[in-house]
Amino acid sequence: MRIRQVGDPILREVSIALSPERIASSETQALIQRMQNILNGIKAISDENGNALSAPQVGSLVRLILLRIDGVFTAMINPEYRPSSERTFMFEEECFSLYDQRVNLKRWYEIDVEYLDSDGEKRELSCRGELAGLIQHEVDHLNGVLFTDRAEKEGAQLSSIDTLLTDQPDRLAQVKIMIDYMRG
Ligand SMILES: [Zn+2]
Repeated sequence: MRIRQVGDPILREVSIALSPERIASSETQALIQRMQNILNGIKAISDENGNALSAPQVGSLVRLILLRIDGVFTAMINPEYRPSSERTFMFEEECFSLYDQRVNLKRWYEIDVEYLDSDGEKRELSCRGELAGLIQHEVDHLNGVLFTDRAEKEGAQLSSIDTLLTDQPDRLAQVKIMIDYMRG
């Protein structure tokens, strides 16, 4: 399975921080490469997708997320974020580990993120909107949290893609090909 699917206990574990030595290891660099390959595989099916993934979703319990920002891969290791204002927004969440469901969740609209890059260098990023929402979703994975947990807490209604995309059969077919790839 390329991406661990809901029900897999690994998705409920808390991931461990990576030391600079472990970041430099061939094991971690190979993990980043594997995650990039998977996101590229998803993007090849659907150009608007394949932009964010967390290490636990590919079976590694380490605090590493991978984002595609303006077309460039950015590994964020040991990421910590804080909201930079009180503002929130409703973010439509998708998750490769349960891709047949969607839900709108309340997230911080703008955040500051501190992390180590793939060379172990300390970095900071201020971001807002979709990218901020993606980072909050991926960091949840590092803590064993799935969007279904937040949906339950917020009383938000999950929707099946079969319902959401009922008027868009071409898109629905494309999404199902993506799901096959994730589970393949
Ligand atoms: Zn997810």
